[in-house]
Amino acid sequence: MNPDNLYAFEAAEIPSIPVAGQESRFPVRRIYCVGRNYAAHTREMGRDPDKEPPFFFMKPADAIVPEGGLVKYPAGTSDLHHEIELVVALHRGGHDIAVGRALEHVYGYAIGLDMTRRDLQSEAKKLGRPWDFGKSFDQSAPISAVYPVASHGHHSSGAITLAVNGTIRQKGDLSDMIWNVPETIAFLSQYYDLAPGDLIYTGTPAGVGAVVPGDRLLGRIEGLAELDVEIVS
Ligand code: MN
Repeated sequence: MNPDNLYAFEAAEIPSIPVAGQESRFPVRRIYCVGRNYAAHTREMGRDPDKEPPFFFMKPADAIVPEGGLVKYPAGTSDLHHEIELVVALHRGGHDIAVGRALEHVYGYAIGLDMTRRDLQSEAKKLGRPWDFGKSFDQSAPISAVYPVASHGHHSSGAITLAVNGTIRQKGDLSDMIWNVPETIAFLSQYYDLAPGDLIYTGTPAGVGAVVPGDRLLGRIEGLAELDVEIVS
């Protein structure tokens, strides 16, 4: 078949992220996100961190904003929140992955923002509706380059912070996660066939809050990466 006729119209590009120190990019297949994975943030959202197994939601792959930069204030909200998170990038898939082998599936790590229309999410919670409108919108997943394990190792501890206009708003340590990276991969793989190109946003530390157009967000994970985002109208 003539490749020009394979699709009825030109297909969208595969979303991808730069890989630190390499020319080839990391192609994104799916984005899984863990909810409430740091005790202090779980408490600030009004829940008891000891009582719940991990839970997940998803964002579309094309919600990424590679290497940050300008992010449009989204429609339909007046309470856009930042959630700074460690992101795990997989290069190997599988089902029922054992905790002890889970790290073999990790290609690298990045720092990402799980941008949230908090007012829409809160309404959805109240009404028992899905979270998609609160979580899964355009440009809701800014992300840094991916830092490969092969050159930068694994990241199970280290400070994770977010500053807004130079003031630290979120602060935690990767070692404070309720479900660590291997446990998260293992749990998720009991419910989904994971595949190369999958990203997992691993949850946010305490201090989430609202941003407005003109705000400058600077996320940092010690020994890993930075992510610089400006909210524009
Ligand atoms: Mn989050």
